[in-house]
Amino acid sequence: MRTVTQHQQIIADLIRSPAPVPVPLADAAGRVLAADHYAARQLPAFDNSAMDGYAVLAADIATATTELPVQLRVVEDIPAGRGDVPALRPGTAHRIMTGAPMPVGADAVVQVEATDGGVTRVAIWEPRASGTHVRYAGEDVRAGERVLTAGTVLRAPQLGLLAALGDAEVSVLPALRVLVLSTGSELVEPGQPLLPGQIHESNALMLATAIDSAGAHAKRLHFVADEVAEFHAALDSHLADVDLVITSGGVSAGAYEVVKDALTGQGVDFAKVAMQPGMPQGAGVVRGVPVVTLPGNPVSVLVSFEVFVRPALRAAMGYPDTRRPVVRVRLTEPITAPAGKRQFRRGFLDRELGTVRPIGPPGSHFLRWLAAADCLIDIAEDVTTLEAGALVDAWSLD
Ligand code: AMP
Ligand code: MG
Repeated sequence: MRTVTQHQQIIADLIRSPAPVPVPLADAAGRVLAADHYAARQLPAFDNSAMDGYAVLAADIATATTELPVQLRVVEDIPAGRGDVPALRPGTAHRIMTGAPMPVGADAVVQVEATDGGVTRVAIWEPRASGTHVRYAGEDVRAGERVLTAGTVLRAPQLGLLAALGDAEVSVLPALRVLVLSTGSELVEPGQPLLPGQIHESNALMLATAIDSAGAHAKRLHFVADEVAEFHAALDSHLADVDLVITSGGVSAGAYEVVKDALTGQGVDFAKVAMQPGMPQGAGVVRGVPVVTLPGNPVSVLVSFEVFVRPALRAAMGYPDTRRPVVRVRLTEPITAPAGKRQFRRGFLDRELGTVRPIGPPGSHFLRWLAAADCLIDIAEDVTTLEAGALVDAWSLD
């Protein structure tokens, strides 16, 4: 049997990084920057006012007080966006708005609140030092400067910066495209009636949602009956436009194990991993495309995705955080675990108390308890009993 760590490494080696692509800024949210980014221009682009008020020569208003305001003639009105800003002559003021270009000859802005707000003449009540309320060209970003480093996750502030710099596109590591293929002759589309022995298909949507929230893109979801020919046909029709295939079901020890039957000897290696849930696993490359075969039980599917696939996907797409955050917390009640297997139990965290409550039994069909959990309790291979109050590692799934 393989250890969890060994199989994690196999999946990590299997999933390759996508080639960087330029994308419009609007499509770049959440993606990883592929290369260091240099500013094409400076920010601010020109000296401009930080306030609504009056552009003045600081020396002209040095004596201003409430009792003895300095009176200046207002010569020009400069709203934001005005391009033809006349120079300021000493002894006069220009009314100016936030973001409007500073006139040559002015060296300070008095905000409107420190004046009477006059339109043709203005009474200024307070002096201002040279440079006050002026935003200087290039004081934020110099042209040619490196503003973002490769590997940065592009979120609102980074995209705001790129837009401010005038960039329309940015080179990112794109989402890996994943085909989700569930197997089982008992499976029926949700919403459709069930005949005896049938169940509603639930792994495909669950996996697709987990894939998307890992930053990848579940491109197609499918389920096929336990028929080797049908399985191959589904695979063949989609292999060309995906980077990874994830299957569920059909890999354990019984008969009618369609994934095993179809892919044994085709580049996929099936193995047992010392883990509960999720023991039967497989991985390989089929006709040039990496394939990860997960077991069919719903809890096994999601736990195996979390343990093996999610970290590998995130690493390939360049994310700095490939692992779920692990918190060290105390069990609220005792649990037992099988010898020789790494066990992942569902749990519910109380971060304030620093505790975790194990939720539901260990069986891998207890979907309702999976849905109630917010973490996986990670129990080492050699641990068989844990008392209430024992410290454990929990993977936070939020
Ligand atoms: P298998 O690994 O194919 O033997 O499936 C193990 C268990 O998981 C069986 O009870 C299946 O009915 C169930 N199962 C497998 N695939 C799915 C699926 N896509 N949706 C819901 N249950 C499934
Ligand atoms: Mg099956």
